[in-house]
Amino acid sequence: MLALEGMPLGHRFTFLEPAPDPPAGRLGEVIAAPYDDPVALARIAAGADVVTYEFENVPAASAAYLARRVPVLPPPRALGATQDRLAEKQMFDSLGIPTAPFHRLDTTADLDPALAVTGLPTVVKTRRFGYDGKGQIVARSAGEAAAALDTLGAGLIAERFIHFERELSIVAVRGRGGHRICYPLAENHHRDGILRTSHAPAPGVTTLLQGTAEELAGRIMDQLDYVGVLAIELFELDGRLLANEMAPRVHNSGHWTLDGADASQFENHIRAITGFPLARPRVPAPAAMLNIIGALPDPAAIASVPGTHLHLYDKAPRPGRKLGHVNITGPDEAAVRAGAEQVWALLPGEPPVLPIGARHG
Ligand code: AMP
Repeated sequence: MLALEGMPLGHRFTFLEPAPDPPAGRLGEVIAAPYDDPVALARIAAGADVVTYEFENVPAASAAYLARRVPVLPPPRALGATQDRLAEKQMFDSLGIPTAPFHRLDTTADLDPALAVTGLPTVVKTRRFGYDGKGQIVARSAGEAAAALDTLGAGLIAERFIHFERELSIVAVRGRGGHRICYPLAENHHRDGILRTSHAPAPGVTTLLQGTAEELAGRIMDQLDYVGVLAIELFELDGRLLANEMAPRVHNSGHWTLDGADASQFENHIRAITGFPLARPRVPAPAAMLNIIGALPDPAAIASVPGTHLHLYDKAPRPGRKLGHVNITGPDEAAVRAGAEQVWALLPGEPPVLPIGARHG
């Protein structure tokens, strides 16, 4: 999607991808090698004007190697800050950004001090390589927390279980000169730890809440001298925002911007890393994004629902795999919700519509 949006701006793309036959192969040259392959990295360093990534678990050493030879944006220090949940939360703390109370959890000696901070229930998470809800256990007692430590191994973080009202995310973009733009907050619904749907602008968001989210994003981006798209996942409760985690890349909860905004997160990421001016996005009406997970629907049926925009990734179906998404646009939130309901019904094995903005009209 970065290449699809970057090609009209005059750029050509080469991809480093270890998996065979990646969808990006339709759009440019693929170097099929592991992310730490020295020959592959040398080829990229020799041929690219700028390098970016859309996956935060690329080895920090590879990013550092490339950064000595060619601009790597977002800067590799952003990878360092997001690859370890503990370091990430400590950075939020140091910037005065509220989070769920947390504590490191490496050995049984950490259990008491951790539970003293988090209380029960507590969410025990692996610090590294967790995604889509993998590597997380909700513990309702000290015994369950000890069992989670056994199951997940060392290198954990324990967090207070937050009874949030809803999950929101902000997609922010910072240009090479430090200029910044943000998209409206999106409301996100997960199931089994996987994002199912985003609605944007999130219903009922006040100017104050949007401003708070933008200000938090700005603090993080300035700290990291960031360039590109940064997404921050937030919990909303009692009119406050707690930062859960951030992603130094274009984000699934920003996929709606392909059709709901006149400049997408992908276009603005490419603009940022290539030193173009950013496009301040106009969002004329609400939009929704529904992920297609595990199995493919009938594309013609989806495309026949008014206001739908189908984005298939040309990936082989596999349980839990994101195969594409459907954006739905319309004149107002009611029309978008009606379209989303129709699309849900066409998605194989998907749950019924979730209570979007239930507390927010
Ligand atoms: P994460 O991998 O941190 O994004 O977590 C995946 C999902 O688990 C989040 O989107 C939330 O729905 C839920 N979750 C994570 N951390 C907490 C927490 N501290 N309290 C309650 N729910 C959480």
